[in-house]
Amino acid sequence: MQKFSIWSLLRNAVSYHEGWERQWRSPEPQREYDVVVVGAGGHGLATAYYLAKEHGIRDVAVVERGYLGGGNTARNTTIVRSNYLWDEATQLYEKAMKLWEGLSQDLNYNVMFSQRGVMNLGHTLQDMRDIERRVTANRLNGVDAEVLNAAQVKEIVPFINLNTRYPVLGASLQRRAGVARHDAVAWGFARAADALGVDIIQNCEVIGIGREGGRVTGVDTAKGFIKAKKVAVVAAGHSSVIASMAGIRLPIESHPLQALVSEPLKPVFPNVVMSNAIHAYISQSDKGDLVIGAGIDQYAGYGQRGSYQTIEHTLQAIVEMFPMFSRVRMNRQWGGIVDISPDACPIIGLTPVKGLYINCGWGTGGFKATPGSGWVMAHTVAQDRPHPLNEAFALERFTTGHLIDEHGAAAVAH
Ligand SMILES: Cc1cc2nc3c(=O)[nH]c(=O)nc-3n(C[C@H](O)[C@H](O)[C@H](O)COP(=O)(O)OP(=O)(O)OC[C@H]3O[C@@H](n4cnc5c(N)ncnc54)[C@H](O)[C@@H]3O)c2cc1C
Repeated sequence: MQKFSIWSLLRNAVSYHEGWERQWRSPEPQREYDVVVVGAGGHGLATAYYLAKEHGIRDVAVVERGYLGGGNTARNTTIVRSNYLWDEATQLYEKAMKLWEGLSQDLNYNVMFSQRGVMNLGHTLQDMRDIERRVTANRLNGVDAEVLNAAQVKEIVPFINLNTRYPVLGASLQRRAGVARHDAVAWGFARAADALGVDIIQNCEVIGIGREGGRVTGVDTAKGFIKAKKVAVVAAGHSSVIASMAGIRLPIESHPLQALVSEPLKPVFPNVVMSNAIHAYISQSDKGDLVIGAGIDQYAGYGQRGSYQTIEHTLQAIVEMFPMFSRVRMNRQWGGIVDISPDACPIIGLTPVKGLYINCGWGTGGFKATPGSGWVMAHTVAQDRPHPLNEAFALERFTTGHLIDEHGAAAVAH
Protein backbone atom coordinates (compact mmCIF):
# COMPACT_ATOMS: atom_id res chain seq x y z
CA MET A 1 0.00 0.00 0.00
CA GLN A 2 1.36 3.42 -0.92
CA LYS A 3 1.69 5.55 2.19
CA PHE A 4 0.09 8.99 2.25
CA SER A 5 2.33 11.66 3.72
CA ILE A 6 3.49 15.16 2.93
CA TRP A 7 6.49 13.62 1.11
CA SER A 8 4.45 11.26 -1.07
CA LEU A 9 2.14 14.17 -1.94
CA LEU A 10 5.09 16.32 -2.97
CA ARG A 11 6.68 13.49 -4.95
CA ASN A 12 3.45 12.83 -6.81
CA ALA A 13 2.83 16.53 -7.40
CA VAL A 14 5.99 16.59 -9.56
CA SER A 15 4.47 13.90 -11.82
CA TYR A 16 1.04 15.61 -11.98
CA HIS A 17 -0.44 13.02 -9.58
CA GLU A 18 -0.42 10.41 -12.34
CA GLY A 19 1.68 7.90 -10.44
CA TRP A 20 -0.70 6.95 -7.65
CA GLU A 21 -1.53 3.26 -7.34
CA ARG A 22 -5.11 2.01 -7.33
CA GLN A 23 -6.44 2.18 -3.78
CA TRP A 24 -7.66 -1.42 -3.76
CA ARG A 25 -7.68 -4.38 -6.12
CA SER A 26 -10.71 -5.70 -7.97
CA PRO A 27 -10.21 -9.47 -7.69
CA GLU A 28 -12.41 -12.29 -8.93
CA PRO A 29 -13.68 -14.42 -6.03
CA GLN A 30 -11.70 -17.50 -5.00
CA ARG A 31 -13.61 -20.76 -4.59
CA GLU A 32 -13.29 -20.67 -0.82
CA TYR A 33 -12.48 -18.31 2.08
CA ASP A 34 -12.17 -18.62 5.83
CA VAL A 35 -14.65 -15.76 6.22
CA VAL A 36 -17.08 -14.10 3.81
CA VAL A 37 -18.49 -10.74 4.91
CA VAL A 38 -21.73 -9.80 3.14
CA GLY A 39 -21.98 -6.04 2.53
CA ALA A 40 -19.20 -3.56 1.75
CA GLY A 41 -20.62 -0.67 3.75
CA GLY A 42 -18.53 0.92 6.47
CA HIS A 43 -19.42 -1.79 9.00
CA GLY A 44 -18.64 -4.73 6.69
CA LEU A 45 -15.33 -3.23 5.56
CA ALA A 46 -14.37 -2.41 9.16
CA THR A 47 -15.19 -6.01 10.15
CA ALA A 48 -12.88 -7.32 7.44
CA TYR A 49 -10.13 -4.87 8.38
CA TYR A 50 -10.16 -5.75 12.08
CA LEU A 51 -10.40 -9.50 11.29
CA ALA A 52 -7.13 -9.15 9.38
CA LYS A 53 -5.46 -6.63 11.65
CA GLU A 54 -6.48 -7.76 15.14
CA HIS A 55 -7.05 -11.47 14.63
CA GLY A 56 -4.66 -12.38 11.78
CA ILE A 57 -7.54 -13.79 9.69
CA ARG A 58 -6.67 -12.61 6.19
CA ASP A 59 -8.38 -15.19 4.02
CA VAL A 60 -11.43 -12.96 3.90
CA ALA A 61 -13.75 -11.74 1.14
CA VAL A 62 -16.22 -8.87 1.37
CA VAL A 63 -18.98 -9.37 -1.19
CA GLU A 64 -21.05 -6.38 -2.22
CA ARG A 65 -24.05 -6.31 -4.53
CA GLY A 66 -23.33 -2.78 -5.82
CA TYR A 67 -20.25 -0.64 -5.30
CA LEU A 68 -18.48 -0.34 -1.97
CA GLY A 69 -19.83 2.37 0.27
CA GLY A 70 -22.86 2.90 -2.01
CA GLY A 71 -25.43 2.02 0.68
CA ASN A 72 -26.18 3.95 3.85
CA THR A 73 -22.48 4.66 4.32
CA ALA A 74 -22.57 7.29 1.58
CA ARG A 75 -26.09 8.45 2.37
CA ASN A 76 -25.91 9.43 6.01
CA THR A 77 -25.51 12.81 7.65
CA THR A 78 -22.21 11.75 9.28
CA ILE A 79 -23.00 12.56 12.92
CA VAL A 80 -20.70 10.84 15.42
CA ARG A 81 -21.44 10.87 19.17
CA SER A 82 -21.49 8.45 22.10
CA ASN A 83 -23.99 10.03 24.51
CA TYR A 84 -26.54 7.20 24.68
CA LEU A 85 -28.56 6.47 27.81
CA TRP A 86 -27.91 2.90 28.91
CA ASP A 87 -24.54 1.55 30.03
CA GLU A 88 -24.40 -1.15 27.33
CA ALA A 89 -25.05 1.29 24.47
CA THR A 90 -22.82 4.05 25.85
CA GLN A 91 -19.88 1.68 26.23
CA LEU A 92 -20.27 0.35 22.70
CA TYR A 93 -20.53 3.81 21.11
CA GLU A 94 -17.72 5.14 23.31
CA LYS A 95 -15.46 2.32 22.09
CA ALA A 96 -16.25 3.55 18.57
CA MET A 97 -15.53 7.16 19.61
CA LYS A 98 -12.08 6.16 20.91
CA LEU A 99 -11.34 4.39 17.63
CA TRP A 100 -12.56 7.45 15.66
CA GLU A 101 -10.09 9.60 17.57
CA GLY A 102 -7.13 7.67 16.09
CA LEU A 103 -8.73 6.37 12.89
CA SER A 104 -7.06 8.63 10.30
CA GLN A 105 -3.64 7.67 11.68
CA ASP A 106 -4.52 3.99 11.98
CA LEU A 107 -5.80 3.76 8.38
CA ASN A 108 -3.29 6.31 7.02
CA TYR A 109 -6.33 7.90 5.39
CA ASN A 110 -7.90 11.21 6.31
CA VAL A 111 -11.47 10.44 7.41
CA MET A 112 -11.89 14.14 8.27
CA PHE A 113 -13.14 13.43 11.78
CA SER A 114 -14.08 16.83 13.17
CA GLN A 115 -14.94 17.01 16.89
CA ARG A 116 -16.99 20.18 16.65
CA GLY A 117 -19.59 19.21 19.27
CA VAL A 118 -23.14 17.89 19.01
CA MET A 119 -26.13 19.54 20.74
CA ASN A 120 -29.40 17.66 21.32
CA LEU A 121 -32.12 20.26 21.86
CA GLY A 122 -34.81 20.10 24.53
CA HIS A 123 -38.17 21.66 23.63
CA THR A 124 -40.31 20.72 26.64
CA LEU A 125 -39.82 20.35 30.39
CA GLN A 126 -39.92 16.58 29.93
CA ASP A 127 -37.20 16.82 27.22
CA MET A 128 -35.04 18.74 29.71
CA ARG A 129 -35.61 16.14 32.46
CA ASP A 130 -34.61 13.41 30.01
CA ILE A 131 -31.52 15.40 29.02
CA GLU A 132 -30.50 15.80 32.70
CA ARG A 133 -30.91 12.07 33.21
CA ARG A 134 -28.92 11.15 30.09
CA VAL A 135 -26.11 13.61 30.82
CA THR A 136 -25.80 12.22 34.37
CA ALA A 137 -25.75 8.65 33.02
CA ASN A 138 -23.10 9.65 30.45
CA ARG A 139 -20.87 11.15 33.11
CA LEU A 140 -21.20 8.05 35.29
CA ASN A 141 -19.91 6.13 32.25
CA GLY A 142 -16.97 8.49 31.80
CA VAL A 143 -18.43 10.10 28.67
CA ASP A 144 -18.19 13.90 28.37
CA ALA A 145 -21.61 15.54 28.55
CA GLU A 146 -23.06 18.89 29.63
CA VAL A 147 -26.50 20.39 30.13
CA LEU A 148 -26.91 23.82 28.52
CA ASN A 149 -29.65 26.34 29.25
CA ALA A 150 -31.25 28.35 26.46
CA ALA A 151 -28.83 31.27 26.83
CA GLN A 152 -25.84 28.93 26.54
CA VAL A 153 -27.33 27.39 23.40
CA LYS A 154 -27.67 30.87 21.91
CA GLU A 155 -24.08 31.70 22.79
CA ILE A 156 -22.89 28.79 20.63
CA VAL A 157 -25.44 29.24 17.81
CA PRO A 158 -26.31 32.98 18.00
CA PHE A 159 -28.76 32.89 15.08
CA ILE A 160 -31.05 30.24 16.59
CA ASN A 161 -34.64 31.36 17.22
CA LEU A 162 -35.48 30.10 20.70
CA ASN A 163 -39.14 31.10 20.73
CA THR A 164 -40.79 29.22 17.93
CA ARG A 165 -43.52 26.61 17.70
CA TYR A 166 -40.75 24.39 19.15
CA PRO A 167 -39.36 26.62 21.94
CA VAL A 168 -35.77 25.74 22.82
CA LEU A 169 -35.37 25.36 26.60
CA GLY A 170 -31.85 23.99 26.55
CA ALA A 171 -29.76 21.14 25.21
CA SER A 172 -27.27 18.43 25.97
CA LEU A 173 -23.79 19.00 24.55
CA GLN A 174 -21.09 16.45 23.84
CA ARG A 175 -17.99 18.41 22.86
CA ARG A 176 -15.99 15.37 21.64
CA ALA A 177 -18.79 14.48 19.22
CA GLY A 178 -18.90 15.75 15.63
CA VAL A 179 -18.85 14.59 12.04
CA ALA A 180 -16.61 12.59 9.70
CA ARG A 181 -16.41 12.25 5.92
CA HIS A 182 -18.54 9.17 5.21
CA ASP A 183 -17.09 7.96 1.90
CA ALA A 184 -13.57 8.45 3.21
CA VAL A 185 -14.45 6.04 6.01
CA ALA A 186 -15.50 3.36 3.52
CA TRP A 187 -12.51 4.05 1.25
CA GLY A 188 -10.05 4.13 4.15
CA PHE A 189 -11.23 0.80 5.55
CA ALA A 190 -11.35 -0.72 2.05
CA ARG A 191 -7.81 0.36 1.24
CA ALA A 192 -6.41 -0.82 4.57
CA ALA A 193 -8.26 -4.16 4.45
CA ASP A 194 -7.14 -4.76 0.85
CA ALA A 195 -3.54 -4.07 1.86
CA LEU A 196 -3.84 -6.84 4.47
CA GLY A 197 -5.01 -9.30 1.80
CA VAL A 198 -8.81 -9.00 2.03
CA ASP A 199 -10.60 -9.47 -1.34
CA ILE A 200 -13.32 -6.87 -1.92
CA ILE A 201 -15.68 -8.17 -4.58
CA GLN A 202 -18.13 -5.61 -5.92
CA ASN A 203 -21.17 -6.27 -8.15
CA CYS A 204 -21.56 -9.62 -6.45
CA GLU A 205 -25.01 -9.90 -4.89
CA VAL A 206 -25.61 -12.66 -2.37
CA ILE A 207 -28.71 -14.61 -3.43
CA GLY A 208 -28.55 -17.57 -1.08
CA ILE A 209 -26.84 -18.91 2.03
CA GLY A 210 -25.53 -22.49 1.88
CA ARG A 211 -26.18 -24.65 4.95
CA GLU A 212 -25.56 -28.27 5.85
CA GLY A 213 -26.40 -29.95 9.15
CA GLY A 214 -27.18 -26.63 10.83
CA ARG A 215 -23.84 -25.11 9.72
CA VAL A 216 -23.11 -22.49 7.12
CA THR A 217 -21.20 -23.71 4.04
CA GLY A 218 -20.92 -20.50 2.02
CA VAL A 219 -22.86 -17.99 -0.03
CA ASP A 220 -24.53 -18.26 -3.39
CA THR A 221 -23.75 -15.12 -5.37
CA ALA A 222 -24.13 -13.51 -8.77
CA LYS A 223 -20.57 -14.77 -9.42
CA GLY A 224 -21.26 -18.37 -8.33
CA PHE A 225 -21.09 -20.24 -5.04
CA ILE A 226 -18.32 -19.16 -2.66
CA LYS A 227 -17.48 -21.67 0.06
CA ALA A 228 -16.79 -20.24 3.51
CA LYS A 229 -16.18 -21.56 7.01
CA LYS A 230 -17.84 -18.47 8.44
CA VAL A 231 -20.23 -15.88 7.02
CA ALA A 232 -20.84 -12.46 8.58
CA VAL A 233 -23.95 -10.64 7.37
CA VAL A 234 -23.39 -6.88 7.68
CA ALA A 235 -25.93 -5.61 5.18
CA ALA A 236 -27.80 -2.82 7.05
CA GLY A 237 -31.21 -2.20 5.38
CA HIS A 238 -31.23 -5.62 3.69
CA SER A 239 -30.28 -7.74 6.69
CA SER A 240 -33.68 -9.35 7.10
CA VAL A 241 -33.75 -10.30 3.39
CA ILE A 242 -30.38 -12.06 3.71
CA ALA A 243 -31.16 -13.64 7.10
CA SER A 244 -34.34 -15.10 5.60
CA MET A 245 -32.13 -16.91 3.05
CA ALA A 246 -30.83 -18.89 6.05
CA GLY A 247 -34.31 -19.41 7.49
CA ILE A 248 -33.89 -16.75 10.19
CA ARG A 249 -36.64 -14.21 10.87
CA LEU A 250 -35.13 -11.03 12.29
CA PRO A 251 -37.13 -8.55 14.40
CA ILE A 252 -36.19 -5.79 11.95
CA GLU A 253 -38.21 -3.38 9.85
CA SER A 254 -36.61 -1.61 6.89
CA HIS A 255 -37.66 2.01 6.35
CA PRO A 256 -36.55 4.84 4.08
CA LEU A 257 -34.68 7.68 5.79
CA GLN A 258 -34.03 10.90 3.92
CA ALA A 259 -31.41 13.62 3.95
CA LEU A 260 -30.66 16.66 1.84
CA VAL A 261 -27.92 19.21 1.27
CA SER A 262 -28.09 22.87 0.38
CA GLU A 263 -26.02 24.96 -1.97
CA PRO A 264 -22.60 25.73 -0.44
CA LEU A 265 -22.44 28.66 2.01
CA LYS A 266 -19.55 30.40 3.72
CA PRO A 267 -18.73 28.83 7.11
CA VAL A 268 -21.62 29.75 9.38
CA PHE A 269 -22.75 26.72 11.35
CA PRO A 270 -20.28 25.96 14.14
CA ASN A 271 -21.36 22.53 15.35
CA VAL A 272 -24.09 19.90 14.92
CA VAL A 273 -27.62 20.57 16.19
CA MET A 274 -30.11 17.74 16.56
CA SER A 275 -33.69 17.69 17.69
CA ASN A 276 -35.31 14.33 18.33
CA ALA A 277 -38.68 15.93 18.95
CA ILE A 278 -38.96 17.53 15.53
CA HIS A 279 -36.90 14.91 13.66
CA ALA A 280 -34.34 17.31 12.27
CA TYR A 281 -30.58 17.55 12.49
CA ILE A 282 -28.24 19.98 10.79
CA SER A 283 -24.55 20.67 10.36
CA GLN A 284 -22.34 22.26 7.70
CA SER A 285 -19.92 20.21 5.63
CA ASP A 286 -16.36 21.32 4.94
CA LYS A 287 -17.52 22.11 1.40
CA GLY A 288 -20.06 24.55 2.83
CA ASP A 289 -23.36 22.71 2.24
CA LEU A 290 -25.87 22.55 5.05
CA VAL A 291 -26.38 18.83 5.69
CA ILE A 292 -29.89 18.16 6.95
CA GLY A 293 -31.46 14.88 8.02
CA ALA A 294 -35.12 13.99 8.46
CA GLY A 295 -37.12 11.38 10.36
CA ILE A 296 -37.93 7.96 8.90
CA ASP A 297 -40.83 7.47 6.54
CA GLN A 298 -43.44 5.52 8.47
CA TYR A 299 -43.95 2.81 5.85
CA ALA A 300 -41.57 -0.12 5.36
CA GLY A 301 -39.87 -0.35 1.97
CA TYR A 302 -36.65 -0.71 0.01
CA GLY A 303 -36.91 2.25 -2.40
CA GLN A 304 -33.98 4.60 -1.77
CA ARG A 305 -36.15 7.69 -1.75
CA GLY A 306 -38.89 8.92 0.58
CA SER A 307 -42.04 10.93 0.75
CA TYR A 308 -42.19 14.64 0.24
CA GLN A 309 -44.14 15.52 3.40
CA THR A 310 -41.37 14.07 5.59
CA ILE A 311 -38.69 16.44 4.30
CA GLU A 312 -41.20 19.27 4.08
CA HIS A 313 -41.87 18.86 7.82
CA THR A 314 -38.13 18.76 8.56
CA LEU A 315 -37.41 21.90 6.54
CA GLN A 316 -40.31 23.76 8.17
CA ALA A 317 -38.81 23.03 11.57
CA ILE A 318 -35.27 23.96 10.45
CA VAL A 319 -36.45 27.25 8.98
CA GLU A 320 -38.46 28.11 12.11
CA MET A 321 -35.41 27.48 14.28
CA PHE A 322 -32.95 29.12 11.88
CA PRO A 323 -34.94 31.76 9.94
CA MET A 324 -31.80 33.04 8.21
CA PHE A 325 -31.75 29.83 6.13
CA SER A 326 -35.23 30.45 4.72
CA ARG A 327 -33.92 31.50 1.30
CA VAL A 328 -31.12 28.94 1.03
CA ARG A 329 -31.71 26.61 -1.92
CA MET A 330 -31.54 22.88 -1.47
CA ASN A 331 -29.27 21.12 -3.95
CA ARG A 332 -29.89 17.38 -3.55
CA GLN A 333 -32.15 15.03 -1.63
CA TRP A 334 -31.86 11.24 -1.28
CA GLY A 335 -32.91 8.30 0.85
CA GLY A 336 -31.30 5.24 2.38
CA ILE A 337 -32.83 2.11 3.86
CA VAL A 338 -32.36 1.80 7.60
CA ASP A 339 -32.98 -1.35 9.64
CA ILE A 340 -35.01 -0.55 12.72
CA SER A 341 -35.03 -2.91 15.70
CA PRO A 342 -37.76 -2.82 18.39
CA ASP A 343 -35.47 -1.25 21.05
CA ALA A 344 -33.53 1.06 18.69
CA CYS A 345 -30.33 -0.89 19.37
CA PRO A 346 -28.23 -3.04 17.06
CA ILE A 347 -28.16 -6.82 16.91
CA ILE A 348 -24.57 -8.11 16.86
CA GLY A 349 -23.69 -11.72 17.42
CA LEU A 350 -24.22 -15.37 16.67
CA THR A 351 -27.31 -16.83 14.98
CA PRO A 352 -29.03 -20.23 15.27
CA VAL A 353 -26.99 -21.32 12.19
CA LYS A 354 -23.44 -22.28 13.23
CA GLY A 355 -20.80 -20.11 11.58
CA LEU A 356 -23.33 -17.46 10.55
CA TYR A 357 -23.09 -14.10 12.31
CA ILE A 358 -25.27 -11.03 12.09
CA ASN A 359 -24.64 -7.32 12.56
CA CYS A 360 -27.68 -5.14 11.89
CA GLY A 361 -30.41 -3.01 13.45
CA TRP A 362 -28.36 0.19 13.66
CA GLY A 363 -31.37 2.04 12.33
CA THR A 364 -30.87 5.75 11.87
CA GLY A 365 -27.64 5.91 13.86
CA GLY A 366 -25.04 3.35 12.83
CA PHE A 367 -22.49 5.55 11.08
CA LYS A 368 -21.12 6.78 14.39
CA ALA A 369 -20.49 3.19 15.43
CA THR A 370 -18.66 2.11 12.25
CA PRO A 371 -15.19 1.39 13.70
CA GLY A 372 -16.56 0.01 16.98
CA SER A 373 -19.10 -2.15 15.21
CA GLY A 374 -16.42 -3.64 12.95
CA TRP A 375 -14.10 -4.14 15.92
CA VAL A 376 -16.59 -6.13 18.05
CA MET A 377 -17.93 -7.99 15.02
CA ALA A 378 -14.41 -9.12 14.07
CA HIS A 379 -13.90 -10.38 17.62
CA THR A 380 -17.25 -12.22 17.54
CA VAL A 381 -16.48 -13.92 14.22
CA ALA A 382 -12.87 -14.75 15.09
CA GLN A 383 -13.60 -16.12 18.59
CA ASP A 384 -17.05 -17.52 17.83
CA ARG A 385 -18.39 -15.66 20.86
CA PRO A 386 -19.30 -12.05 21.50
CA HIS A 387 -16.91 -9.54 23.00
CA PRO A 388 -18.16 -8.26 26.41
CA LEU A 389 -19.01 -4.97 24.63
CA ASN A 390 -21.57 -6.64 22.35
CA GLU A 391 -22.75 -9.48 24.60
CA ALA A 392 -25.93 -7.59 25.52
CA PHE A 393 -26.75 -6.97 21.85
CA ALA A 394 -27.47 -10.63 21.03
CA LEU A 395 -30.48 -11.68 18.99
CA GLU A 396 -31.77 -13.64 22.01
CA ARG A 397 -32.64 -10.45 23.86
CA PHE A 398 -35.92 -10.37 21.97
CA THR A 399 -36.88 -13.71 23.51
CA THR A 400 -35.37 -13.18 26.98
CA GLY A 401 -36.81 -9.67 27.21
CA HIS A 402 -33.47 -8.02 28.13
CA LEU A 403 -34.05 -5.07 25.82
CA ILE A 404 -31.88 -1.94 25.83
CA ASP A 405 -34.40 0.79 25.15
CA GLU A 406 -32.56 3.62 23.41
CA HIS A 407 -35.58 5.21 21.71
CA GLY A 408 -34.95 8.40 23.67
CA ALA A 409 -31.30 8.78 22.63
CA ALA A 410 -31.26 7.27 19.14
CA ALA A 411 -30.55 9.63 16.24
CA VAL A 412 -34.20 10.38 15.51
CA ALA A 413 -37.13 8.98 17.40
CA HIS A 414 -38.43 5.78 15.84
C1 LIG B 1 -30.35 9.61 5.40
C2 LIG B 1 -29.58 8.91 6.47
C3 LIG B 1 -28.96 9.66 7.47
C4 LIG B 1 -28.23 9.01 8.47
N1 LIG B 1 -27.55 9.79 9.37
C5 LIG B 1 -26.76 9.20 10.30
C6 LIG B 1 -25.96 9.99 11.15
O1 LIG B 1 -25.94 11.22 11.06
N2 LIG B 1 -25.20 9.37 12.09
C7 LIG B 1 -25.20 8.02 12.22
O2 LIG B 1 -24.53 7.51 13.13
N3 LIG B 1 -25.91 7.23 11.37
C8 LIG B 1 -26.68 7.77 10.41
N4 LIG B 1 -27.41 7.00 9.53
C9 LIG B 1 -27.39 5.54 9.69
C10 LIG B 1 -26.14 4.89 9.10
O3 LIG B 1 -25.92 5.37 7.80
C11 LIG B 1 -26.30 3.35 9.08
O4 LIG B 1 -26.71 2.88 10.34
C12 LIG B 1 -24.99 2.66 8.73
O5 LIG B 1 -24.39 3.28 7.61
C13 LIG B 1 -25.25 1.18 8.44
O6 LIG B 1 -24.09 0.41 8.27
P1 LIG B 1 -23.26 0.28 6.90
O7 LIG B 1 -22.53 1.56 6.75
O8 LIG B 1 -22.42 -0.90 6.90
O9 LIG B 1 -24.47 0.12 5.85
P2 LIG B 1 -24.46 0.19 4.27
O10 LIG B 1 -23.50 1.20 3.77
O11 LIG B 1 -25.87 0.29 3.84
O12 LIG B 1 -23.86 -1.24 3.90
C14 LIG B 1 -24.61 -2.40 3.65
C15 LIG B 1 -24.18 -2.94 2.31
O13 LIG B 1 -24.78 -4.21 2.10
C16 LIG B 1 -24.99 -4.34 0.72
N5 LIG B 1 -25.95 -5.41 0.45
C17 LIG B 1 -27.28 -5.43 0.70
N6 LIG B 1 -27.81 -6.58 0.28
C18 LIG B 1 -26.79 -7.32 -0.25
C19 LIG B 1 -26.71 -8.60 -0.86
N7 LIG B 1 -27.79 -9.37 -1.03
N8 LIG B 1 -25.49 -9.05 -1.28
C20 LIG B 1 -24.37 -8.28 -1.12
N9 LIG B 1 -24.40 -7.06 -0.56
C21 LIG B 1 -25.59 -6.58 -0.12
C22 LIG B 1 -25.53 -2.97 0.32
O14 LIG B 1 -25.43 -2.73 -1.07
C23 LIG B 1 -24.65 -2.04 1.16
O15 LIG B 1 -23.52 -1.56 0.44
C24 LIG B 1 -28.14 7.59 8.51
C25 LIG B 1 -28.76 6.84 7.50
C26 LIG B 1 -29.45 7.49 6.47
C27 LIG B 1 -30.08 6.66 5.40
